[in-house]
Amino acid sequence: MSPERLPITVHRAKEIWFTRRTGDSISLVTFMDAALAVDAHGKITAIGRASEFKSPSYSEKVIDHGDGILVPGFVDAHVHCPQLSVIGSGGLPLLDWLTKYVFHAEAQFKNQNVATLGARRLARELMQNGVTSAAVFSSVHAVAAEALFQEFDTAGLRLLTGKTSMDVGAPAAVLQAAHADIADQEVLIKRWHGKSARLRYAITPRFALSCSRELMLGLGELRERHPSCYVQTHISENIEEVAAVKEVWKSCKDYLAVYEDHGLIGDKTLLAHGIHLTNNELMRMATAKATLVHCPTSNMFLGSGLLNLKQVQDSGVHLCLASDIGAGTNLSPWQTMLECYKIQAIQGNRLSAAELLYQTTLAGAQSLGLGNVCGSLEVGKDADFVVIKPSKKPILAERLVTAETPSERLFACITCGDDRIIEQTYVAGNLIYSQAAPT
Ligand SMILES: [Zn+2]
Repeated sequence: MSPERLPITVHRAKEIWFTRRTGDSISLVTFMDAALAVDAHGKITAIGRASEFKSPSYSEKVIDHGDGILVPGFVDAHVHCPQLSVIGSGGLPLLDWLTKYVFHAEAQFKNQNVATLGARRLARELMQNGVTSAAVFSSVHAVAAEALFQEFDTAGLRLLTGKTSMDVGAPAAVLQAAHADIADQEVLIKRWHGKSARLRYAITPRFALSCSRELMLGLGELRERHPSCYVQTHISENIEEVAAVKEVWKSCKDYLAVYEDHGLIGDKTLLAHGIHLTNNELMRMATAKATLVHCPTSNMFLGSGLLNLKQVQDSGVHLCLASDIGAGTNLSPWQTMLECYKIQAIQGNRLSAAELLYQTTLAGAQSLGLGNVCGSLEVGKDADFVVIKPSKKPILAERLVTAETPSERLFACITCGDDRIIEQTYVAGNLIYSQAAPT
């Protein structure tokens, strides 16, 4: 059977929305009375108005989503699996919050059963919120990273993860000596990195205060041996943290240099937060093509600060959004987008609905090296999409009656949306979650 003769599934919907970037301009691409054709390999073969679709002569299945709207699968570019159990632990800034709540929760992930159930629960929550790709932190334990790969593979999600590297600055239960850490990572990389197109490995130093020089050197060498692996970590989240890093890493000229000096910054590096980065650090990040992952609900919950998104964009740094559970307060990308909007609005920078959707779909996919694979609904890409049903939430359904344009309707979804309006989630054409019949 030639590729063009493979069976096609046509998804019909009331509307389709996705974003496109041309230069610095982000636009919302929309189709009304729309259809999306997907072949047996999960690739998009056509998109447009349903009335303009030609009936093919080969086998075709039609799925009518009624008043549903199709949007690209969301990307959560920074989320901590073991921290789901401490979400909403309030009252403390970053370093105290880690000590009081987080390290204890992560220590439990040494246990295989805890790690497996935790990974399964996160996969389930992400699918339920329309997230199809995620960059995830586990704990220091190899078994926890192993469980994430296993459970996300089974669920059909796209995953970037690795074991968290920590050998100083925390209780012994969440530390591992450098040589053992690197040895465990070699095994994980061999077993999981690129095992399928959906699974990739990320070298994951927690942050500059969790790693000794010996461990940082080992991680840099690991990256050199495995240049196709990603790097994910935290940077400049909190003023006290930045001061402590300056004290501990005296030989490095600033926070970014801690990672730079150990060969950990490049176009496959994701740096979470970056609220307090200097212009010079941002310029160096831009040159290296590293991504800044903005986590708005987390920044507000811990009181870490207000990211100046315009400053980041003006410096040319690529940026995308993430939940950062459990300092973040919600796995729903709608709520992440809304909080991002508020943080910029209070600084006089009013983002459009298209910009917000772009940051949590296409920009996120690009950060994870998936820009040519998913993140928008273009012919030739994999069909990663979500069927949303705003009618499932009465207040939103009522609001949409007076919303005249797709952009207004999208903004209303960003403001009022949650997992109740996520009807179905697809990865590469495969249904991985349905509200009607949970998988
Ligand atoms: Zn984080």
